[in-house]
Amino acid sequence: MRISTSNKRNTKNRVAAGAMAGSTAGSTAGARPDHVHRRVPIRVRSAWWPALLLVLLILGCAGRPLPSDRTARPAPSETAPTTGAFKPGQLPVIRIGLLVNRDSASLTGTGRFRVVDRASGEVIGTSSSGQIWNMQAKGAWIDVTAPGGAVQGLYTGPIDVGPLAREGRIKAADREYRGSMEVVSNKNGKLTVVNILDVENYLRGVVPPEIGKLKEDRIEALKAQAIAARTYTVSNLGRRKALGFDLYGTVADQVYHGYGAEWPVADRAISETRGMIATYEGKPIAAQYSSTCAGETESIEDAWGGDPIPYLRSVRDRDRGSDDFCSHSPVYTWRVEWNKDTLENILSTRLPGLDPRKRGEFDLRGISIKSRSSTGRVQLLEIKSNHGTATLRSGQIRSALRRPVRGQPMLRSTKFDLRFRQNTVVAEGGGYGHGIGMCQFGAIGMAGQGYKYDRILKHYYRGIDLDRVYN
Ligand SMILES: [Zn+2]
Repeated sequence: MRISTSNKRNTKNRVAAGAMAGSTAGSTAGARPDHVHRRVPIRVRSAWWPALLLVLLILGCAGRPLPSDRTARPAPSETAPTTGAFKPGQLPVIRIGLLVNRDSASLTGTGRFRVVDRASGEVIGTSSSGQIWNMQAKGAWIDVTAPGGAVQGLYTGPIDVGPLAREGRIKAADREYRGSMEVVSNKNGKLTVVNILDVENYLRGVVPPEIGKLKEDRIEALKAQAIAARTYTVSNLGRRKALGFDLYGTVADQVYHGYGAEWPVADRAISETRGMIATYEGKPIAAQYSSTCAGETESIEDAWGGDPIPYLRSVRDRDRGSDDFCSHSPVYTWRVEWNKDTLENILSTRLPGLDPRKRGEFDLRGISIKSRSSTGRVQLLEIKSNHGTATLRSGQIRSALRRPVRGQPMLRSTKFDLRFRQNTVVAEGGGYGHGIGMCQFGAIGMAGQGYKYDRILKHYYRGIDLDRVYN
């Protein structure tokens, strides 16, 4: 099936392949003098694209996408149900977008590993531990270079990089990952590197970065986190299918740091709850969670508008007579202080709807809290300036009132009061994140007080059931 470059008929095919891919890649490949040692196997994109579509359709799944620190409800297009993705009884395989829209990617392995052109099934090469393969985006093609710089050729891909050794990992972007990697030339002519592995092994790289490397005496919180993360995963398979994968490995979905993040106590929490997810009326729930609710979680409709969801209603984060379960959180309370110049600087670039040409001419004339939800979180904030009056809603508030520290991170939560001094504005607040669903520090607090994972989950998500959907 591989096309030889010395054949006239196939030279024509190469040009056709580039044209079909709608990029300049055909001319790039054509202009390159063929090297004696250079093999140029070319596959027309349409050969693998329908197969990929089919896989993505199969992986597509119903469910409300809810990342761990979203500031707004997802757009309707993101929630469009795509049925048939998750088959009860079957351990799902997930695709995580590790690198997206890159010009190049370097991959290696921790044991022997193999590099395969999926379209033709051709083994491009096998390598031993630490040997680096470089892939470069060349229009619609991937320029694959073997260790030591021996050029191997151009492929339309996808290129599969998989371990041959048992327990072998593939390394990309300085992290080791279980499962295999897929390198794809995407529609922008850039590379996307996707890690493909089963959901249980994926969770081993998610639970510790999401809730911390907790000790044995807090294992029930790790189990609750494992179930919340598994539920999120199962109900969001196919969420990023337009990009060629299911989920990002970042806070945009769930933080995933692969093999290096694994932790034995978390591994045990994951295996002891294997296949278990939270359901409501038989369907996986939108397992929203955030760091610290500071005493009371938020109802989804109060934070993001839209319809209420029965299991995402506000709950007091304590038991009768107890302190708040999350009172041990380092961000249970916090304080941020801006001097007027700094705040004007931040607002001039961060306030939505502002003309970028007017930067530097921002004169703050007043900030006032216009309404709060029943839990005291700010819902409407009014900012007056020489540009007029801006009214910000929940999520916008956190991204406009950024903290005056390196990287200008978002304000930790919308649970705050404002105080004004001569030349400073002070926000005194509590908690971190949107506050919807499970409070992670609260879950840790509950585990410390002897609560089991099912009690923890049912405290934050009222009326749910726990079901084992595969063994
Ligand atoms: Zn809490």
